[in-house]
Amino acid sequence: MTEPLISAQNLAKHFDVGGGGLFLRSKTSKLRAVDDVALSIMPGETLGLVGESGCGKSTLGRLLIRLLDPTTGNIRFQGQEITGLGRAAMREFRRSMQIIFQDPYGALNPRMAVEDIIAEPLVIHGAKSGAETRQKVTEMLDRVGLPSRALDRFPHEFSGGQRQRIGIARALILRPRFVVCDEAVSALDVSVQAQIVNLLQDLQRDMGLTYLFIAHDLSVVRHISDRVAVMYLGKIVEVAEKREIYMTPQHPYTRALIAAVPAPHPSRRSRGKRENIVGDIPSALNPPSGCRFHTRCPHVMPICREAAPPLVETQPGHQVACHLMTQAQA
Ligand code: SF4
Repeated sequence: MTEPLISAQNLAKHFDVGGGGLFLRSKTSKLRAVDDVALSIMPGETLGLVGESGCGKSTLGRLLIRLLDPTTGNIRFQGQEITGLGRAAMREFRRSMQIIFQDPYGALNPRMAVEDIIAEPLVIHGAKSGAETRQKVTEMLDRVGLPSRALDRFPHEFSGGQRQRIGIARALILRPRFVVCDEAVSALDVSVQAQIVNLLQDLQRDMGLTYLFIAHDLSVVRHISDRVAVMYLGKIVEVAEKREIYMTPQHPYTRALIAAVPAPHPSRRSRGKRENIVGDIPSALNPPSGCRFHTRCPHVMPICREAAPPLVETQPGHQVACHLMTQAQA
């Protein structure tokens, strides 16, 4: 069996917040953005990562490519442990791991011409600016569907979709293997979203890319993903093949998320039990004990308040973290 391109075990990221204020006396708290996460992504695969705003999706994406240092846990990329690598040792891996950001307006330096924006990662990795670099940038522009006359123009001269194409060209110019698409289409109009999703799929096929596709729009995730992971308050609560998770979701939170998505056709409606959840996601500063979903779960049991349910395989390739599953298996 093929090895995962990237995998993580016991991954956590806790941020210190507070500790400032007048006379610096206020207490420091821990924000548990990501807690004890394990996942793996196979070469050429797209893993969709969904969950409400603030659940830790973007932090997890940044941890995997070492834009953030984890508090605990480890990350392996192409079979090598990269968790503790310093700046110099990470340099070679950086070429292979890139990110496409949500905001095509904010992610591009408004004072740089498109050629310089896209060439910058090449230059950082030792390329000289000149004819060869310009040629690579022109080819990449063509791949993302922009004409070479865009080279000398500035970001404000482009539409949102075109700016995202520039962001994609910048992310791919080093020919990475793994790309985190962090809400990469969320800020775009629906028709433009479809064009960018199709472009990402074409580029994946042509360049052999592996994606972590982070989004809160489950329809988009359904379109692009091979497997889907659902995150709630810093934890992965369910992972399965796309069809499996959309048609027979098992975790009460996943069922609620999927029930809220309008199905384009009755045949694509989930066969799982529909759930309604109420209330807002609790603060990651003070997450609920036991199962973090217990404050909103319609099936909460005494054990749910005491013990965190482990992520267990309920069927081949389908993992769920819920005491209902462990009780059913007992
Ligand atoms: Fe609900 Fe308990 Fe399952 Fe958590 S573990 S999702 S509270 S039933």
